[in-house]
Amino acid sequence: MTRIAFLGLGKMGLPMASRLVRAGHAVTGFDPVEAARLAFVQAGGKAAAGAREAAIGAEVLITMLPDGKAVRAALLELADVLSAGSIVVDMSSSAPLGTRELAEALGKKGIAMVDAPVSGGVKRAIDGSLAIMAGGDAQEIARIRPVLETMGKSVFTTGAIGSGHAMKALNNYVSAAGLVAACEALQIGAKFGLDPDLMADILNVSTGRNNSTEVKLKPFVIPKTYASGFSLGLMAKDLRTADDLARALGVPARFSHATTALWEEAQQALGPQADHTAIDAFLGERE
Ligand code: NAD
Repeated sequence: MTRIAFLGLGKMGLPMASRLVRAGHAVTGFDPVEAARLAFVQAGGKAAAGAREAAIGAEVLITMLPDGKAVRAALLELADVLSAGSIVVDMSSSAPLGTRELAEALGKKGIAMVDAPVSGGVKRAIDGSLAIMAGGDAQEIARIRPVLETMGKSVFTTGAIGSGHAMKALNNYVSAAGLVAACEALQIGAKFGLDPDLMADILNVSTGRNNSTEVKLKPFVIPKTYASGFSLGLMAKDLRTADDLARALGVPARFSHATTALWEEAQQALGPQADHTAIDAFLGERE
């Protein structure tokens, strides 16, 4: 049993923290949204009135917040309540260069940090089959592996601190590009007279198959439900992270620049709270 503080009980954090409770860990969660705290209590967890209260006495502090800026702001306020020897695990999709800086600042206070972002969405957060990519000191990752394995089926070690976050942003770049291509293909195909459902069936056994064609077209895009549980604002943030990394490293990445600009335009038009699959509506009408 590990004493865990869990910050961020949103769409992903709530099911992830709930799995830790069910596995027998002593989890104290905090989220500024009251409904999120209540839902966590209903799932058997303990909710704190503030982040500091949640963090006191924690051996492991997990963050599942919107982005690296929110993580940094939360952690710098907590550094004096976290004890030396404790470990911070940032499972949010944060920017890798900021993560490196934060780990250095925490390290000076004797607090270890691992970045362990996830892929798989709400469904896989609920059933504990997330893909987890962990960056940081190998011994620290080994120390928290049992905790990570409660939330994810595949736990990869990606290298130095920040490498998990770099991998996550690059994964979402590939995922977002695949979704745009699939939506545009359906719009072109439908205008030509092809049936969108049939197109999805054919794509899914052909070389155009990708995660979006497999799990997003039929439930969210074709019927225009746009309810995957992952927001447009968070996807645009991940693309910006990947694109900034390309620029910082001097990689040309022309398609990344174009894809990122497209998603940022969609975010302006639809708002950050729209579901990311609503990019389909932004791209144009399907006949
Ligand atoms: P969300 O907006 O549903 O949840 C974030 C939660 O953090 C909110 O409930 C918010 O109130 C809370 N929060 C903000 N500041 C806080 C603070 N200082 N202390 C405690 N709680 C605070 O977002 P989400 O979809 O759960 O995503 C969380 C992270 O996971 C993001 O970085 C996102 O990019 C990533 N992610 C999301 C998905 C997905 O499918 N939704 C999949 C993989 C990764």
